[in-house]
Amino acid sequence: MKRVLITGAAGFLGSHLCDRFIAEGFYVIGMDNFITGDESNIEHLFNHQNFEFIKHDVTKFIEIEGELDYILHFASPASPIDYLKIPIQTLKVGSLGTHNLLGLAKAKNARILIASTSEVYGDPLVHPQTEDYYGNVNTIGPRGVYDEAKRFQEAITMAYHRFHGLETRIVRIFNTYGPRMRLNDGRVIPAFMGQVLRGENLTVFGDGLQTRSFCYVDDQVEGIFRLLFSDYSYPVNIGNPNEITIIAFAKEIIKLTETDQKIVFKKLPIDDPLQRQPDISLAKKILNWEAKVGRKEGMTKTINYFKTLSIEELHKRDHKDFTKHIKR
Ligand code: NAD
Ligand code: UDP
Repeated sequence: MKRVLITGAAGFLGSHLCDRFIAEGFYVIGMDNFITGDESNIEHLFNHQNFEFIKHDVTKFIEIEGELDYILHFASPASPIDYLKIPIQTLKVGSLGTHNLLGLAKAKNARILIASTSEVYGDPLVHPQTEDYYGNVNTIGPRGVYDEAKRFQEAITMAYHRFHGLETRIVRIFNTYGPRMRLNDGRVIPAFMGQVLRGENLTVFGDGLQTRSFCYVDDQVEGIFRLLFSDYSYPVNIGNPNEITIIAFAKEIIKLTETDQKIVFKKLPIDDPLQRQPDISLAKKILNWEAKVGRKEGMTKTINYFKTLSIEELHKRDHKDFTKHIKR
């Protein structure tokens, strides 16, 4: 039985990856320190014979007993609100955490896939974004803590590949959504979901003409799975190219949920990218992959998930307490 370590296992994407690898017959070791994730995302796996969980901060030395065939490094805050609140942890998990995991992969002779992001393109001047575009990133802005950690992560991964001959894979993930996103983590979809379910106005930042291209989680997981088992070591965009402005998206959600909420405009956050759309020609060519789930289908599943949350949960503004992780 092949053994895979998945970091960020209690998070949104990590938990779906745990499910997928279990379903494919792997032995899965999930690792997380719960800083932005939640135990409830993986508790259904706790009694599974092919699953074990280690609570650990990956920025500290990582010890795993026995063999490892694959590592998927998904630990990192991913929402702009989260990484603004825990900027140093964000920089550390992308840099020190990635270094530890690359070292572990080398020691175990395992193949490692790291979760990069469309944020490496910053506020892109090339549209749609192809993998050979170097990006337009503000190193010192508030988002720099995430963007630069991810850029460093790609650089150190390629260095381990070139210098140590490590088998590495890099996925550049474009905005992905679905069940198990944390309500009120600040990302636009959980934000709109919470607002719709509480009967509040939808908050659109700026004039809402900035664009994003939203990918349903099942498509994302499929792309990641194929990339891991491909022989391609350079970054690959995985996302759904169906681009939409945030204002049009807000209206779409109001229609889909058959509510009559109003839209209110708030200040656009600093360095919020004005446009984002993946060029997925490379993924199509080398992985024979493209997104299959349309926004209506994906959003319906997502809305149904958020509807299962309790009233208390819906009214907690931010149920994440970062204070115990923050040393001053
Ligand atoms: P998430 O916040 O739901 O999950 C991240 C998980 O990592 C959480 O469970 C958190 O507790 C854990 N974690 C953070 N720091 C850790 C540490 N030091 N040690 C151990 N665990 C730690 O976010 P997500 O959306 O699931 O994102 C997962 C990965 O995918 C991240 O690397 C993120 O940058 C990347 N990504 C996601 C998206 C997206 O749209 N969801 C887009 C681009 C990139
Ligand atoms: N956004 C918004 N209202 C919200 C939350 C986000 O209009 O309540 C906007 C945000 O400014 C950005 C887009 O939605 O332009 C996507 O934001 P998100 O935080 O989900 O991800 P990003 O792609 O910016 O990392």
